[in-house]
Amino acid sequence: MRIPLVDLVAGYESIRGEIDRAIAETLGSASFIMGPTVAEFERSFAAWIGAARAVGVANGTEAVRLAASACGVGPGDEVITVANTFIATAEAITACGATPVFADIDEATHVIDPADLERRVTPRTKAIVCVHLYGHACDMDPILEIARRRDLVVIEDCAQCHGGRYKGRTLGTIGRVGCFSMFPAKILGAFGDAGAVVTDDAALADAIARTRDHGRISKHESASVGCNARLDALQARILTVKLAHVDGWIEARRRLAASYDAALAGLVGTPKVRDWAFHPFYMYVVRAARRDALQAHLEAEGIGCGIHYPIPLHLQRAYAHLGVRRGSLPRTERAADEVLSLPLYPELTEAQQASVVAAIAEFVRAEG
Ligand SMILES: *Cc1c(COP(=O)(O)O)cnc(C)c1O
Repeated sequence: MRIPLVDLVAGYESIRGEIDRAIAETLGSASFIMGPTVAEFERSFAAWIGAARAVGVANGTEAVRLAASACGVGPGDEVITVANTFIATAEAITACGATPVFADIDEATHVIDPADLERRVTPRTKAIVCVHLYGHACDMDPILEIARRRDLVVIEDCAQCHGGRYKGRTLGTIGRVGCFSMFPAKILGAFGDAGAVVTDDAALADAIARTRDHGRISKHESASVGCNARLDALQARILTVKLAHVDGWIEARRRLAASYDAALAGLVGTPKVRDWAFHPFYMYVVRAARRDALQAHLEAEGIGCGIHYPIPLHLQRAYAHLGVRRGSLPRTERAADEVLSLPLYPELTEAQQASVVAAIAEFVRAEG
């Protein structure tokens, strides 16, 4: 039996009755765009996060773009982020007309290193996009302090950290705005594309809510040039159903991560979690010097794994024009060569997890 990296079918099967009913109801309501279904999800998600407002949007990439743009990021600005993230983080910055500037990471946790971040600040820096990678919180206190001193906007890319916390504070509520993706594989995932922006700033929420729907203030009046980046009502309904389960899923992820930690200690580099982070484990990522050989071995054993991410953004052809050379982000580049994401999803069984551990142990033994 193959063990996948993520099992979206098992996730669906676990709540199939509820989901099928919710879909049927939505189809019967014939309300597919905006309306009460989207508003209900926005209220529930804001309450779950503990933010004053949530605005449903089409996907996580648009969440970051709309948030950055509403915070004033535009042509000529620099925005500091990391290169070990999904390309969407940087794309959203580029789409605002700004330039992404990559800071190196704390190698233990794989999130942005505040000291390196500060070294990259220039008079043109407008904002910081913190990526809580794999679900591990960035070290927000020093980041907020740098932002305060240098007058920068802090935007949180929360695509991987639903339910994660920093010193007890829910991720997404610490900076000016938090940007979530509900891509199907995420901790809270739709059955298609979806996303949300959360903030305590009502004016900012209103601006984003308007922009995502053609800048409209009424059916036929637009106050600004917007776009169509709305959250689909069917996905909103599905997400409202799934939201009631997400705390249990996060607990399951954390239990599985703890079992991996215990079983894999001494075999591969297991994830370090700072004591200030409540880690929801979107990904369980180990480090191995012979990563590619380990991945090949696991794949041959029928175990799906992933690399998040094999090509840092400064080495992507899409960002070659930035002229950031190999060697300029040494910790990011080393991580890209060594990280390996293991199967982790709430329905992963003990037996499946034992097979993953056994296959890794076998690889380590064979390597001597
Ligand atoms: C998934 C992801 C995104 C993009 O989200 P989409 O919903 O796929 O557009 C952005 N940033 C990070 C860190 C992600 O993991």
